[in-house]
Amino acid sequence: MTAGKIRIAPTRRRATVAGLLALTMAGSLTACVSFDPDNGGDGADPATPPQSPPATGQAAADSVGDDYVPGDGNGGYDVQHYKLDLTVRPGTATELTGVADITARATEQLTRFNLDLQGLTVSGITVDGRRAEHQREAAELMITAPKPLAKGAEFTVTVKYSGTPKPVAKPPLGTYGWVRTPDGVFVACQPSGAHTWFPSNDHPSDKATFEFDVTVPEGLTAIANGEPTSRVPSGTGSPSPSGGGVITIGRRDVVSAWKVKEPMAPYLATVTVGRFQVRTGKTPGGITNITAVDPNVGNTDLNTFYRKNSEITDAFVKLFGPFPFGSTGGIVDNAAVGFALETQNRPVYGSFGADEAIVAHELAHQWFGDNVSVTRWKDIWLNEGFATYAEWMWTERRDGQTAQSRFDEYYQQAENSELWEVPTGNPGRANMFSSDAVYTRGAMTLHALRKKVGDEKFFEILKDWAKRYRHANATSQQFIDVAEEVSGQQLDDFFDAWLYGRERPAL
Ligand SMILES: [Zn+2]
Repeated sequence: MTAGKIRIAPTRRRATVAGLLALTMAGSLTACVSFDPDNGGDGADPATPPQSPPATGQAAADSVGDDYVPGDGNGGYDVQHYKLDLTVRPGTATELTGVADITARATEQLTRFNLDLQGLTVSGITVDGRRAEHQREAAELMITAPKPLAKGAEFTVTVKYSGTPKPVAKPPLGTYGWVRTPDGVFVACQPSGAHTWFPSNDHPSDKATFEFDVTVPEGLTAIANGEPTSRVPSGTGSPSPSGGGVITIGRRDVVSAWKVKEPMAPYLATVTVGRFQVRTGKTPGGITNITAVDPNVGNTDLNTFYRKNSEITDAFVKLFGPFPFGSTGGIVDNAAVGFALETQNRPVYGSFGADEAIVAHELAHQWFGDNVSVTRWKDIWLNEGFATYAEWMWTERRDGQTAQSRFDEYYQQAENSELWEVPTGNPGRANMFSSDAVYTRGAMTLHALRKKVGDEKFFEILKDWAKRYRHANATSQQFIDVAEEVSGQQLDDFFDAWLYGRERPAL
Protein backbone atom coordinates (compact mmCIF):
# COMPACT_ATOMS: atom_id res chain seq x y z
CA MET A 1 0.00 0.00 0.00
CA THR A 2 1.07 3.56 -0.49
CA ALA A 3 -0.72 6.36 1.25
CA GLY A 4 -0.94 9.93 0.23
CA LYS A 5 -3.60 12.45 -0.33
CA ILE A 6 -1.97 13.58 -3.47
CA ARG A 7 -3.32 16.33 -5.61
CA ILE A 8 -0.74 17.62 -8.01
CA ALA A 9 -1.02 18.74 -11.57
CA PRO A 10 0.18 16.15 -14.08
CA THR A 11 2.73 18.54 -15.51
CA ARG A 12 4.41 18.90 -12.14
CA ARG A 13 4.61 15.23 -11.43
CA ARG A 14 8.02 14.42 -12.75
CA ALA A 15 9.66 17.26 -10.95
CA THR A 16 8.01 16.55 -7.65
CA VAL A 17 8.50 12.83 -7.29
CA ALA A 18 10.98 13.20 -4.47
CA GLY A 19 8.99 15.82 -2.64
CA LEU A 20 5.86 13.88 -3.21
CA LEU A 21 7.37 10.77 -1.73
CA ALA A 22 8.45 12.65 1.32
CA LEU A 23 4.92 13.93 1.59
CA THR A 24 3.50 10.52 0.90
CA MET A 25 5.56 8.72 3.40
CA ALA A 26 5.58 11.39 6.04
CA GLY A 27 1.97 12.28 5.60
CA SER A 28 -1.15 10.60 6.69
CA LEU A 29 0.33 7.38 7.96
CA THR A 30 2.77 8.64 10.52
CA ALA A 31 0.25 8.72 13.29
CA CYS A 32 -0.78 5.50 14.90
CA VAL A 33 -3.28 3.39 13.11
CA SER A 34 -5.85 2.62 15.72
CA PHE A 35 -7.67 -0.58 15.27
CA ASP A 36 -10.85 -1.06 17.13
CA PRO A 37 -10.99 -4.62 18.32
CA ASP A 38 -14.69 -4.27 18.89
CA ASN A 39 -15.29 -3.15 15.37
CA GLY A 40 -16.47 -6.62 14.44
CA GLY A 41 -19.61 -5.88 16.35
CA ASP A 42 -20.95 -3.33 13.94
CA GLY A 43 -21.42 -6.00 11.35
CA ALA A 44 -24.00 -7.90 13.33
CA ASP A 45 -26.48 -9.10 10.84
CA PRO A 46 -29.85 -7.59 11.58
CA ALA A 47 -31.57 -9.69 8.97
CA THR A 48 -30.38 -13.03 10.23
CA PRO A 49 -33.35 -15.26 10.90
CA PRO A 50 -33.84 -16.65 14.39
CA GLN A 51 -30.74 -18.52 15.41
CA SER A 52 -30.56 -22.20 14.78
CA PRO A 53 -29.99 -24.41 17.82
CA PRO A 54 -26.52 -24.13 19.29
CA ALA A 55 -24.09 -26.29 17.43
CA THR A 56 -22.47 -29.20 19.13
CA GLY A 57 -19.06 -30.72 18.64
CA GLN A 58 -15.57 -29.32 18.82
CA ALA A 59 -15.28 -26.07 16.85
CA ALA A 60 -12.16 -25.21 14.88
CA ALA A 61 -10.27 -22.06 15.91
CA ASP A 62 -12.10 -18.83 15.13
CA SER A 63 -8.94 -16.91 14.22
CA VAL A 64 -5.41 -17.59 13.09
CA GLY A 65 -4.14 -15.82 16.20
CA ASP A 66 -2.44 -12.86 14.51
CA ASP A 67 -2.65 -10.15 17.15
CA TYR A 68 -2.21 -7.38 14.54
CA VAL A 69 -5.63 -8.34 13.14
CA PRO A 70 -7.58 -9.93 16.00
CA GLY A 71 -10.27 -12.32 14.82
CA ASP A 72 -9.07 -12.49 11.21
CA GLY A 73 -8.70 -15.89 9.62
CA ASN A 74 -9.76 -19.23 11.06
CA GLY A 75 -8.35 -22.63 11.87
CA GLY A 76 -9.17 -26.15 10.73
CA TYR A 77 -8.92 -25.85 6.97
CA ASP A 78 -6.91 -24.49 4.10
CA VAL A 79 -8.81 -22.79 1.28
CA GLN A 80 -7.82 -23.97 -2.19
CA HIS A 81 -10.16 -21.93 -4.37
CA TYR A 82 -12.77 -19.18 -4.20
CA LYS A 83 -15.37 -19.02 -6.96
CA LEU A 84 -17.33 -15.81 -6.56
CA ASP A 85 -20.44 -15.26 -8.64
CA LEU A 86 -21.35 -11.64 -7.96
CA THR A 87 -23.98 -9.18 -9.13
CA VAL A 88 -22.99 -5.62 -8.39
CA ARG A 89 -25.52 -2.79 -8.72
CA PRO A 90 -23.78 0.32 -7.43
CA GLY A 91 -25.96 2.81 -5.62
CA THR A 92 -28.95 0.51 -5.17
CA ALA A 93 -30.30 -0.71 -1.83
CA THR A 94 -28.60 -4.07 -2.32
CA GLU A 95 -25.36 -3.36 -4.10
CA LEU A 96 -24.04 -6.90 -3.92
CA THR A 97 -25.67 -10.28 -4.40
CA GLY A 98 -23.26 -13.18 -4.28
CA VAL A 99 -22.75 -16.89 -4.32
CA ALA A 100 -19.37 -17.96 -2.96
CA ASP A 101 -18.19 -21.50 -3.65
CA ILE A 102 -15.20 -22.06 -1.40
CA THR A 103 -13.21 -25.24 -1.87
CA ALA A 104 -11.02 -26.12 1.10
CA ARG A 105 -9.07 -28.98 2.60
CA ALA A 106 -9.70 -29.92 6.22
CA THR A 107 -6.51 -29.80 8.28
CA GLU A 108 -8.22 -31.50 11.21
CA GLN A 109 -11.46 -33.40 11.66
CA LEU A 110 -14.16 -30.74 11.38
CA THR A 111 -17.65 -30.61 12.76
CA ARG A 112 -17.83 -26.83 13.12
CA PHE A 113 -15.70 -24.21 11.44
CA ASN A 114 -15.83 -20.48 10.73
CA LEU A 115 -15.55 -18.17 7.80
CA ASP A 116 -15.01 -14.44 8.26
CA LEU A 117 -17.92 -12.29 7.10
CA GLN A 118 -18.74 -8.76 8.22
CA GLY A 119 -22.31 -7.57 7.77
CA LEU A 120 -24.42 -8.70 4.79
CA THR A 121 -27.28 -11.18 4.92
CA VAL A 122 -26.71 -14.89 4.50
CA SER A 123 -29.64 -16.69 2.90
CA GLY A 124 -28.26 -20.20 2.73
CA ILE A 125 -25.22 -22.37 3.19
CA THR A 126 -24.41 -25.83 1.91
CA VAL A 127 -21.39 -28.02 2.54
CA ASP A 128 -20.77 -30.45 -0.31
CA GLY A 129 -24.28 -29.75 -1.52
CA ARG A 130 -26.02 -30.49 1.79
CA ARG A 131 -27.75 -27.76 3.72
CA ALA A 132 -25.69 -26.58 6.68
CA GLU A 133 -26.75 -24.71 9.81
CA HIS A 134 -24.99 -21.49 10.64
CA GLN A 135 -24.78 -18.82 13.29
CA ARG A 136 -23.40 -15.29 13.15
CA GLU A 137 -21.47 -13.44 15.77
CA ALA A 138 -19.69 -10.20 14.94
CA ALA A 139 -17.49 -10.96 11.91
CA GLU A 140 -17.64 -14.75 12.36
CA LEU A 141 -19.85 -16.97 10.24
CA MET A 142 -20.01 -20.25 12.18
CA ILE A 143 -20.93 -23.28 10.12
CA THR A 144 -21.88 -26.75 11.32
CA ALA A 145 -20.91 -29.42 8.81
CA PRO A 146 -23.90 -31.66 7.97
CA LYS A 147 -21.58 -34.57 8.66
CA PRO A 148 -18.07 -34.48 10.10
CA LEU A 149 -15.32 -33.79 7.60
CA ALA A 150 -12.28 -36.04 7.90
CA LYS A 151 -8.84 -34.57 8.26
CA GLY A 152 -7.43 -34.15 4.76
CA ALA A 153 -10.84 -34.18 3.06
CA GLU A 154 -11.55 -31.61 0.39
CA PHE A 155 -14.95 -29.97 0.70
CA THR A 156 -16.90 -27.12 -0.84
CA VAL A 157 -18.87 -24.57 1.16
CA THR A 158 -21.42 -22.57 -0.78
CA VAL A 159 -22.66 -19.34 0.79
CA LYS A 160 -25.48 -17.29 -0.72
CA TYR A 161 -25.47 -13.74 0.53
CA SER A 162 -26.47 -10.18 -0.26
CA GLY A 163 -26.39 -6.65 1.04
CA THR A 164 -24.36 -3.48 0.70
CA PRO A 165 -20.85 -3.89 2.08
CA LYS A 166 -19.75 -1.21 4.49
CA PRO A 167 -16.35 0.33 4.00
CA VAL A 168 -13.94 -0.14 6.85
CA ALA A 169 -13.27 3.19 8.55
CA LYS A 170 -10.04 3.19 10.50
CA PRO A 171 -8.61 6.65 11.01
CA PRO A 172 -6.01 7.76 10.10
CA LEU A 173 -5.80 5.14 7.35
CA GLY A 174 -8.98 6.58 6.05
CA THR A 175 -11.61 4.45 4.47
CA TYR A 176 -10.88 1.20 2.72
CA GLY A 177 -12.69 -1.92 1.61
CA TRP A 178 -15.82 -1.50 -0.51
CA VAL A 179 -15.82 2.21 -1.34
CA ARG A 180 -18.52 3.84 -3.46
CA THR A 181 -17.41 6.02 -6.33
CA PRO A 182 -19.60 8.33 -8.44
CA ASP A 183 -20.12 5.54 -10.99
CA GLY A 184 -19.40 2.30 -9.18
CA VAL A 185 -17.26 0.82 -6.43
CA PHE A 186 -13.56 0.77 -5.69
CA VAL A 187 -12.44 -2.30 -3.74
CA ALA A 188 -9.14 -2.35 -1.82
CA CYS A 189 -8.96 -4.39 1.36
CA GLN A 190 -5.64 -4.28 3.23
CA PRO A 191 -5.51 -5.63 5.82
CA SER A 192 -8.99 -6.75 6.90
CA GLY A 193 -11.53 -5.74 4.27
CA ALA A 194 -12.00 -8.89 2.17
CA HIS A 195 -14.60 -10.30 4.52
CA THR A 196 -16.75 -7.19 4.12
CA TRP A 197 -17.65 -8.39 0.60
CA PHE A 198 -17.10 -12.14 0.48
CA PRO A 199 -17.01 -14.90 3.09
CA SER A 200 -13.38 -15.82 3.41
CA ASN A 201 -10.55 -17.12 5.50
CA ASP A 202 -9.40 -13.53 5.64
CA HIS A 203 -5.71 -13.74 6.45
CA PRO A 204 -2.73 -13.66 4.08
CA SER A 205 -1.46 -16.97 5.46
CA ASP A 206 -4.25 -18.75 3.55
CA LYS A 207 -3.76 -17.99 -0.12
CA ALA A 208 -5.94 -19.55 -2.80
CA THR A 209 -6.78 -19.31 -6.48
CA PHE A 210 -9.86 -17.31 -7.48
CA GLU A 211 -12.54 -17.02 -10.13
CA PHE A 212 -14.86 -14.06 -10.45
CA ASP A 213 -18.05 -13.89 -12.50
CA VAL A 214 -19.33 -10.38 -12.14
CA THR A 215 -22.62 -9.07 -13.48
CA VAL A 216 -23.01 -5.30 -13.64
CA PRO A 217 -25.51 -2.97 -15.32
CA GLU A 218 -24.85 -2.22 -18.95
CA GLY A 219 -22.40 0.63 -19.40
CA LEU A 220 -20.31 -0.37 -16.42
CA THR A 221 -17.24 -2.58 -16.42
CA ALA A 222 -16.04 -4.90 -13.67
CA ILE A 223 -12.30 -5.37 -13.47
CA ALA A 224 -10.95 -8.02 -11.14
CA ASN A 225 -7.63 -9.75 -10.59
CA GLY A 226 -6.17 -12.33 -12.94
CA GLU A 227 -7.04 -12.63 -16.58
CA PRO A 228 -10.37 -12.45 -18.39
CA THR A 229 -11.88 -15.78 -19.35
CA SER A 230 -15.16 -14.63 -20.81
CA ARG A 231 -16.16 -16.04 -24.12
CA VAL A 232 -16.60 -13.14 -26.42
CA PRO A 233 -19.70 -13.16 -28.62
CA SER A 234 -19.36 -11.83 -32.12
CA GLY A 235 -19.77 -8.14 -32.50
CA THR A 236 -18.59 -7.06 -29.07
CA GLY A 237 -14.90 -7.22 -29.76
CA SER A 238 -12.20 -9.30 -28.27
CA PRO A 239 -10.95 -9.01 -24.70
CA SER A 240 -7.66 -8.18 -26.33
CA PRO A 241 -6.78 -5.46 -27.10
CA SER A 242 -9.53 -3.46 -25.44
CA GLY A 243 -12.40 -5.46 -24.02
CA GLY A 244 -11.07 -6.58 -20.67
CA GLY A 245 -13.12 -9.75 -20.92
CA VAL A 246 -16.43 -8.00 -21.07
CA ILE A 247 -19.44 -9.65 -22.64
CA THR A 248 -22.59 -7.74 -23.30
CA ILE A 249 -25.64 -9.90 -22.76
CA GLY A 250 -29.00 -8.51 -23.62
CA ARG A 251 -29.45 -4.84 -23.04
CA ARG A 252 -29.25 -4.57 -19.34
CA ASP A 253 -26.43 -6.56 -17.86
CA VAL A 254 -22.82 -7.17 -18.61
CA VAL A 255 -20.92 -10.16 -17.28
CA SER A 256 -17.19 -10.34 -16.98
CA ALA A 257 -15.29 -13.40 -15.92
CA TRP A 258 -11.80 -13.38 -14.47
CA LYS A 259 -9.55 -16.18 -13.31
CA VAL A 260 -6.61 -15.89 -10.93
CA LYS A 261 -4.42 -18.91 -11.60
CA GLU A 262 -1.79 -18.16 -8.96
CA PRO A 263 -2.57 -18.19 -5.23
CA MET A 264 -3.73 -14.86 -3.84
CA ALA A 265 -4.23 -13.53 -0.32
CA PRO A 266 -7.88 -12.50 0.20
CA TYR A 267 -7.00 -8.86 0.97
CA LEU A 268 -5.51 -8.55 -2.52
CA ALA A 269 -8.78 -9.41 -4.25
CA THR A 270 -10.62 -6.64 -6.05
CA VAL A 271 -13.71 -6.24 -8.16
CA THR A 272 -13.60 -2.63 -9.18
CA VAL A 273 -16.71 -1.46 -11.02
CA GLY A 274 -17.34 1.72 -12.98
CA ARG A 275 -16.84 3.32 -16.35
CA PHE A 276 -13.40 2.49 -17.59
CA GLN A 277 -11.25 2.80 -20.64
CA VAL A 278 -9.30 -0.44 -20.82
CA ARG A 279 -6.16 -1.19 -22.76
CA THR A 280 -4.86 -4.75 -23.04
CA GLY A 281 -1.68 -5.91 -24.71
CA LYS A 282 1.76 -7.18 -23.88
CA THR A 283 4.79 -5.50 -22.41
CA PRO A 284 7.91 -5.48 -24.63
CA GLY A 285 9.08 -8.32 -22.36
CA GLY A 286 6.00 -10.38 -23.23
CA ILE A 287 3.84 -10.01 -20.09
CA THR A 288 0.13 -9.43 -20.56
CA ASN A 289 -0.75 -5.89 -19.44
CA ILE A 290 -4.34 -4.96 -18.60
CA THR A 291 -4.63 -1.32 -17.62
CA ALA A 292 -7.79 0.66 -16.93
CA VAL A 293 -8.52 4.32 -16.27
CA ASP A 294 -11.75 5.98 -15.25
CA PRO A 295 -12.04 8.75 -17.85
CA ASN A 296 -13.39 11.08 -15.16
CA VAL A 297 -9.97 11.10 -13.52
CA GLY A 298 -8.43 13.95 -15.44
CA ASN A 299 -4.84 13.51 -14.34
CA THR A 300 -4.15 10.07 -15.84
CA ASP A 301 -3.88 9.26 -19.52
CA LEU A 302 -4.65 5.61 -20.31
CA ASN A 303 -1.87 5.10 -22.81
CA THR A 304 0.77 6.79 -20.69
CA PHE A 305 -0.26 4.74 -17.65
CA TYR A 306 -0.33 1.56 -19.73
CA ARG A 307 3.21 2.16 -21.03
CA LYS A 308 4.43 3.00 -17.54
CA ASN A 309 3.08 -0.30 -16.21
CA SER A 310 4.86 -2.12 -19.04
CA GLU A 311 8.14 -0.31 -18.59
CA ILE A 312 8.32 -0.73 -14.83
CA THR A 313 7.18 -4.36 -14.87
CA ASP A 314 9.84 -5.26 -17.43
CA ALA A 315 12.53 -3.33 -15.53
CA PHE A 316 11.68 -5.10 -12.29
CA VAL A 317 11.88 -8.51 -13.98
CA LYS A 318 15.56 -7.71 -14.47
CA LEU A 319 16.01 -6.73 -10.82
CA PHE A 320 13.76 -9.22 -9.04
CA GLY A 321 13.39 -12.20 -11.39
CA PRO A 322 10.50 -13.56 -13.46
CA PHE A 323 7.12 -11.83 -13.13
CA PRO A 324 5.19 -14.06 -10.73
CA PHE A 325 1.73 -13.78 -12.32
CA GLY A 326 -0.12 -14.14 -15.60
CA SER A 327 -0.61 -10.42 -16.11
CA THR A 328 0.33 -6.96 -14.89
CA GLY A 329 -1.35 -3.57 -15.16
CA GLY A 330 -3.30 -1.15 -12.99
CA ILE A 331 -6.62 0.56 -12.36
CA VAL A 332 -7.03 4.28 -11.73
CA ASP A 333 -10.51 4.96 -10.41
CA ASN A 334 -12.42 8.05 -9.44
CA ALA A 335 -12.35 7.08 -5.76
CA ALA A 336 -11.94 9.58 -2.94
CA VAL A 337 -9.31 7.56 -1.13
CA GLY A 338 -5.83 8.65 -0.22
CA PHE A 339 -4.00 5.44 -1.05
CA ALA A 340 -3.07 2.94 -3.70
CA LEU A 341 -3.07 -0.81 -3.05
CA GLU A 342 -1.11 -3.61 -4.69
CA THR A 343 -4.18 -5.69 -5.60
CA GLN A 344 -2.75 -8.74 -7.35
CA ASN A 345 -1.99 -8.38 -11.08
CA ARG A 346 -3.24 -4.81 -11.22
CA PRO A 347 -2.93 -2.37 -8.35
CA VAL A 348 -5.75 0.10 -7.72
CA TYR A 349 -5.16 3.84 -7.40
CA GLY A 350 -7.57 6.48 -6.14
CA SER A 351 -8.40 9.69 -7.94
CA PHE A 352 -4.96 11.16 -7.14
CA GLY A 353 -3.86 9.18 -10.19
CA ALA A 354 -0.91 7.09 -11.22
CA ASP A 355 2.13 8.89 -9.90
CA GLU A 356 5.19 7.15 -11.28
CA ALA A 357 6.98 6.44 -8.00
CA ILE A 358 3.78 5.05 -6.53
CA VAL A 359 3.29 2.86 -9.60
CA ALA A 360 6.81 1.53 -9.04
CA HIS A 361 5.96 0.87 -5.39
CA GLU A 362 2.78 -1.06 -6.17
CA LEU A 363 4.30 -3.07 -9.00
CA ALA A 364 7.25 -4.06 -6.79
CA HIS A 365 4.67 -5.51 -4.40
CA GLN A 366 3.73 -8.03 -7.08
CA TRP A 367 7.00 -9.77 -6.16
CA PHE A 368 7.13 -8.70 -2.52
CA GLY A 369 3.80 -8.94 -0.73
CA ASP A 370 1.67 -10.59 -3.40
CA ASN A 371 4.03 -13.34 -4.57
CA VAL A 372 5.92 -13.76 -1.28
CA SER A 373 3.29 -12.93 1.35
CA VAL A 374 3.60 -12.40 5.05
CA THR A 375 2.81 -15.25 7.40
CA ARG A 376 2.01 -12.74 10.13
CA TRP A 377 1.43 -8.99 9.78
CA LYS A 378 4.25 -8.11 12.17
CA ASP A 379 6.53 -8.86 9.20
CA ILE A 380 4.84 -6.27 6.98
CA TRP A 381 8.23 -4.63 6.36
CA LEU A 382 8.79 -7.60 4.01
CA ASN A 383 6.11 -5.96 1.87
CA GLU A 384 6.51 -2.27 2.51
CA GLY A 385 10.25 -1.99 3.05
CA PHE A 386 10.85 -3.84 -0.22
CA ALA A 387 8.30 -1.81 -2.20
CA THR A 388 9.66 1.42 -0.76
CA TYR A 389 13.20 0.45 -1.66
CA ALA A 390 12.05 -0.38 -5.20
CA GLU A 391 10.55 3.12 -5.29
CA TRP A 392 13.92 4.58 -4.26
CA MET A 393 15.69 2.61 -6.96
CA TRP A 394 13.16 3.68 -9.59
CA THR A 395 13.47 7.32 -8.56
CA GLU A 396 17.24 7.03 -8.84
CA ARG A 397 16.82 6.01 -12.46
CA ARG A 398 14.43 8.82 -13.11
CA ASP A 399 15.46 12.02 -11.42
CA GLY A 400 18.87 11.27 -10.11
CA GLN A 401 18.22 11.22 -6.36
CA THR A 402 20.15 8.14 -5.43
CA ALA A 403 19.04 5.52 -2.96
CA GLN A 404 22.21 6.39 -1.04
CA SER A 405 21.28 10.04 -0.71
CA ARG A 406 17.76 9.06 0.34
CA PHE A 407 19.26 6.73 2.95
CA ASP A 408 21.61 9.48 4.17
CA GLU A 409 18.76 11.96 4.42
CA TYR A 410 16.84 9.70 6.76
CA TYR A 411 19.88 8.47 8.65
CA GLN A 412 20.66 12.04 9.61
CA GLN A 413 17.30 12.27 11.37
CA ALA A 414 18.86 11.12 14.62
CA GLU A 415 16.03 12.56 16.69
CA ASN A 416 13.22 10.92 14.71
CA SER A 417 11.78 8.72 17.44
CA GLU A 418 9.32 6.86 15.25
CA LEU A 419 12.09 5.95 12.83
CA TRP A 420 14.46 4.58 15.46
CA GLU A 421 12.42 3.60 18.51
CA VAL A 422 9.73 1.54 16.80
CA PRO A 423 11.19 -1.82 15.73
CA THR A 424 10.69 -2.37 12.01
CA GLY A 425 10.38 -6.14 12.36
CA ASN A 426 7.62 -5.94 14.97
CA PRO A 427 6.22 -2.40 14.99
CA GLY A 428 3.04 -3.25 16.89
CA ARG A 429 -0.48 -3.30 15.61
CA ALA A 430 -0.90 0.46 15.87
CA ASN A 431 2.24 1.11 13.81
CA MET A 432 1.89 -1.57 11.15
CA PHE A 433 1.60 1.07 8.43
CA SER A 434 4.08 3.49 9.98
CA SER A 435 5.77 5.35 7.15
CA ASP A 436 8.90 5.84 9.24
CA ALA A 437 9.26 2.59 11.13
CA VAL A 438 8.01 0.16 8.47
CA TYR A 439 8.30 1.82 5.06
CA THR A 440 11.38 3.98 5.45
CA ARG A 441 13.42 1.97 7.95
CA GLY A 442 12.45 -1.19 6.05
CA ALA A 443 13.92 0.34 2.89
CA MET A 444 16.96 1.55 4.84
CA THR A 445 17.48 -1.99 6.13
CA LEU A 446 17.67 -3.24 2.56
CA HIS A 447 20.01 -0.44 1.53
CA ALA A 448 22.27 -1.17 4.50
CA LEU A 449 22.22 -4.85 3.57
CA ARG A 450 23.18 -3.95 -0.01
CA LYS A 451 26.16 -1.96 1.28
CA LYS A 452 27.18 -4.83 3.51
CA VAL A 453 27.02 -7.68 0.99
CA GLY A 454 27.61 -5.78 -2.26
CA ASP A 455 25.35 -5.29 -5.27
CA GLU A 456 25.83 -8.70 -6.79
CA LYS A 457 24.91 -10.64 -3.66
CA PHE A 458 22.15 -8.19 -2.78
CA PHE A 459 20.25 -8.68 -6.02
CA GLU A 460 20.88 -12.41 -5.83
CA ILE A 461 19.26 -12.36 -2.39
CA LEU A 462 16.19 -10.52 -3.72
CA LYS A 463 15.80 -12.92 -6.64
CA ASP A 464 16.36 -15.97 -4.46
CA TRP A 465 13.75 -14.70 -1.98
CA ALA A 466 11.14 -14.16 -4.71
CA LYS A 467 11.88 -17.60 -6.17
CA ARG A 468 12.18 -19.68 -3.02
CA TYR A 469 8.91 -18.41 -1.54
CA ARG A 470 7.12 -18.00 -4.87
CA HIS A 471 3.33 -17.99 -4.36
CA ALA A 472 3.87 -18.81 -0.69
CA ASN A 473 4.26 -17.18 2.73
CA ALA A 474 7.40 -16.37 4.64
CA THR A 475 8.80 -14.68 7.74
CA SER A 476 11.57 -12.21 8.54
CA GLN A 477 13.68 -15.05 9.92
CA GLN A 478 13.38 -16.84 6.59
CA PHE A 479 14.58 -13.70 4.83
CA ILE A 480 17.55 -13.47 7.20
CA ASP A 481 18.33 -17.12 6.44
CA VAL A 482 18.28 -16.46 2.68
CA ALA A 483 20.48 -13.38 3.08
CA GLU A 484 23.02 -15.32 5.15
CA GLU A 485 23.04 -18.29 2.83
CA VAL A 486 23.45 -16.27 -0.36
CA SER A 487 26.00 -13.82 1.06
CA GLY A 488 27.91 -16.35 3.14
CA GLN A 489 27.93 -13.81 5.96
CA GLN A 490 26.70 -14.06 9.53
CA LEU A 491 24.02 -11.36 9.67
CA ASP A 492 22.21 -11.88 12.99
CA ASP A 493 23.68 -8.79 14.65
CA PHE A 494 23.03 -6.71 11.54
CA PHE A 495 19.35 -7.65 11.37
CA ASP A 496 18.92 -7.45 15.14
CA ALA A 497 19.96 -3.82 15.01
CA TRP A 498 18.03 -2.86 11.87
CA LEU A 499 14.82 -4.83 12.41
CA TYR A 500 14.48 -5.15 16.15
CA GLY A 501 16.62 -2.41 17.72
CA ARG A 502 15.07 0.59 19.42
CA GLU A 503 17.86 2.98 18.55
CA ARG A 504 19.60 4.11 15.38
CA PRO A 505 21.92 1.32 14.19
CA ALA A 506 25.60 2.20 13.92
CA LEU A 507 27.03 2.35 10.42
ZN1 LIG B 1 3.00 -0.68 -0.15
